[in-house]
Amino acid sequence: MARYTGAVCRLCRREGQKLFLKGDRCYSRKCSFDRRSYAPGQHGQGRKKVSEYGKQLRTKQIARRYYGVLEGQFRRYFELAEKMPGVTGENLLAILESRLDNVIYRLGLASSRAQARQLVLHGHFTVDGRKVNIPSYLTKVGQVISVKESSRQNENIKQIFEVNSSRPVPQWMEMNRDALEAKVVAMPSREDIELPIEETLIVELYSK
Ligand code: SF4
Repeated sequence: MARYTGAVCRLCRREGQKLFLKGDRCYSRKCSFDRRSYAPGQHGQGRKKVSEYGKQLRTKQIARRYYGVLEGQFRRYFELAEKMPGVTGENLLAILESRLDNVIYRLGLASSRAQARQLVLHGHFTVDGRKVNIPSYLTKVGQVISVKESSRQNENIKQIFEVNSSRPVPQWMEMNRDALEAKVVAMPSREDIELPIEETLIVELYSK
């Protein structure tokens, strides 16, 4: 399964904003972006005039990197969003937000989307009682996501859950933390999605 394997803090510096890709480190003094908030490389601190196309491209890259999705898959999500009723840009974000790795992160069962992806790959979760180890699996309204019975006593996993237990659960999911189980009760709406971007720029980019 393909994924970006380079230095992730460079991505935040490149996009000029914190993308919170490294869990606790992002909130600590070790955050690279807080120490060097300019783009990496020799010309990273130079003045830049960004074209309209440049803005659209950077917006798409921010969304892609935030959710840890490669270009081909991101494009497929866009095509899916176009076919859905409603606003394409909002549909696209709702699809990205519904990915199982994002759901696990948003439920406070992992410190970052990258860690959530790893936990899903290792088969620690079920959807409607069946093991799902595909991070890109798109969850649907009514589905129940649970921690697999045999994973509940794993000390490492218990510690990860403990550390992230105070993270607020988005309104489109209901979490029963004692049962380590959550239900998707609605499609994520734009207000539920924290990503600070103008998604219409992505639509304009792909509509050329
Ligand atoms: Fe980005 Fe987190 Fe690295 Fe800071 S620590 S630069 S927010 S990935």
